[in-house]
Amino acid sequence: MVKLSKRLQGIADYINKGSRAADIGSDHALLPVYLIQNGLCSFAIAGELNDGPFLAAKKQVAAAGQTSKITVRQGDGLQVIEPGEADTVTIAGMGGSLMTGILEAGRIAGKLQGVSQLVLQPNVGEDAVRIWLLQHEWVLTQEMIVEEDGKIYEILVAVPEAVSELTNAEVYDGSILNSGRDQEQQLKLLLRLGPHLLREGNAVLLKKWQSELTKLERIAAQLGESSQPEAALKKAQFREEMNQIKEVLVCLQTDKL
Ligand code: SAM
Repeated sequence: MVKLSKRLQGIADYINKGSRAADIGSDHALLPVYLIQNGLCSFAIAGELNDGPFLAAKKQVAAAGQTSKITVRQGDGLQVIEPGEADTVTIAGMGGSLMTGILEAGRIAGKLQGVSQLVLQPNVGEDAVRIWLLQHEWVLTQEMIVEEDGKIYEILVAVPEAVSELTNAEVYDGSILNSGRDQEQQLKLLLRLGPHLLREGNAVLLKKWQSELTKLERIAAQLGESSQPEAALKKAQFREEMNQIKEVLVCLQTDKL
């Protein structure tokens, strides 16, 4: 039996039981094999673009004796599925902009038809994924943040607006930030830090953003050394953004932790 990492287990735990899942960018197909071995899905597709991971996925599925329930397909993003073929799509372990590119190309090609759940784990650029969901009638219903081997990962779960019990207005209700920010600033912060994660106020979230702020400080200092006129403006914007994040973190520490 396949044993998943904490990150992949977090993803598996969100997947609707009995669904037909497509795991895009599946690499060794560990997730589809786990889902089938544990009776969580009736059928799964492992999609891979690149030769090495595609062959590794095929090997893993064959070794697990699951070729009748898992099909391994080579192709770019959601091209590997037919409209209506999968009801849950998982994409994990890649950057947010690659992920939104895959989702957008799939949406245009009609591949998200019949998909009732997206479980996404971007390694970076989580805000880009939240923005894409918001702009394309998906509601971010759940979020999770996990730390494993010194790395921090966020898992985002979304369902189509038409069937969601939550609305995007509720998810992105800025009143949780309880301050004098305008709506645009509130939305920006919620998209960046994660609305459910902020409501929950987890210690791992605090750790992540303390580390992100250190990185941002370094970039701001580099901008400070530049003599380019735009650098000063950029630095001021940067500082403002950092101050906003710091304020939220202070509230998080006092309110939730
Ligand atoms: N999903 C697995 C996980 O989270 O452990 C593997 C993540 S691995 C870092 C990213 C995988 O995505 C690689 O195997 C890569 O070949 C694949 N990939 C990258 N771009 C892709 C695309 N456009 N379509 C399908 N797979 C892609």
